[in-house]
Amino acid sequence: MNILVVNAGSSSLKYQLIDSVTGIASAKGLCERIGANGSCIEHKNLVKGTKTSLESPMKDHADAMKLVVNYLTDKEFGVIESMDEIGAIGHRVVHGGSYFSKSILLNDDVLAKLELCKDFAPLHTIAHLMGIKGCLDTMPSKPQVLVFDTSFHQTMEPEAYMYALPYKYYSEYGIRRYGFHGTSHRYVSGEMAKILGKPVEDTKIITCHIGNGSSITAVKGGKVMDTSMGFTPLAGVEMGTRCGDIDPAIVTLIMEKENMTPAEVNDLMNKKSGFLGITGLSSDMRDLLAAAEEGGEKGERASLALNILKHNVKKYIGSYAAIMNGVDAVVFTAGIGENCGALREMICSDMEFMGIELDKEANAGRSSDPFRISTADSKVAVYVIPTNEELVIAQDTAAIVEAK
Ligand code: ADP
Repeated sequence: MNILVVNAGSSSLKYQLIDSVTGIASAKGLCERIGANGSCIEHKNLVKGTKTSLESPMKDHADAMKLVVNYLTDKEFGVIESMDEIGAIGHRVVHGGSYFSKSILLNDDVLAKLELCKDFAPLHTIAHLMGIKGCLDTMPSKPQVLVFDTSFHQTMEPEAYMYALPYKYYSEYGIRRYGFHGTSHRYVSGEMAKILGKPVEDTKIITCHIGNGSSITAVKGGKVMDTSMGFTPLAGVEMGTRCGDIDPAIVTLIMEKENMTPAEVNDLMNKKSGFLGITGLSSDMRDLLAAAEEGGEKGERASLALNILKHNVKKYIGSYAAIMNGVDAVVFTAGIGENCGALREMICSDMEFMGIELDKEANAGRSSDPFRISTADSKVAVYVIPTNEELVIAQDTAAIVEAK
């Protein structure tokens, strides 16, 4: 079944058309500046290897979806004859609160619960609702499935997801750890379990999704025990522009000293911290690597940002091995995890005490398939596994629609 995978942002919409049986994507693209001047769509036909783009007004996500369908069915750039060849639509949804522990078919009740998730992730949820409405307007009869970044983490025990705040903040406002990137952690931990070749119930895997946003997850027996992101995707390790874990008292202190509003300090921690905040240079790992190589004052700051991330990730690996009583495998994924051998080497060095031995030559390699970067003797297997969240969304969507 052809599944249209949709990832709707507030002014953007990413899409892929994936055959859920073969797992192959035939087309993908991106609509940008929806609702603003200069909206445009970039569309790729992955079968022919062609690419096209068009500046065209899109006042809302429904307009964007119409353009997507036009391109998918276009004689020259399309991959299908008509909309009938789309079996269903699968949406990536960032926050499902405690309402959704697995992917689900859209209906009025689901839509009402998704509305409630605005409390947790207002901007993302509003964008997803616009994407869903855009699909309902354009393709009213197509089944739609929601796949949540938070749902894989719903297996955590209260001891992992509760914060030690007065209990009423949990019961009244749902303040707890939710965790994010769940679709990615689920995919790579599942692939890793297959590689380990033992029953999933017997596996202990630490997955390191390191990209612009990063999170580390402990997966024991196929279930999440803990994850580094929290109530929002701001928690955990240092990221491109996010600070990750800090002493919460710092927030009120900065607000007092700099006379900041909650919105301003939120912006500071989400958009001006992390690599960008430490270096003043960039939020992009490639820029940090280049600056560190060049040396000088900028290089020192870049090295500091790299070392903070290394230190953070090591700490999570160590603590997750402790809560799982051991670890069989560590997996690196996402933009940095998949491509930055230098950082992987920094993280995996001096970890022999817990059975991690890196094969430096293997670690210098690159592949679109999973590859092992630990030595043959390493007690813990260390792998790079390219993530594929869209495939999980397509497969979940097809399974739910077929079971209807
Ligand atoms: P997002 O969280 O937005 O999905 P990605 O997973 O695409 O982000 O990761 C983006 C990060 O990956 C950027 O910091 C980028 O510099 C880094 N990255 C991409 N390619 C490389 C590379 N070859 N070497 C080092 N870092 C890389």
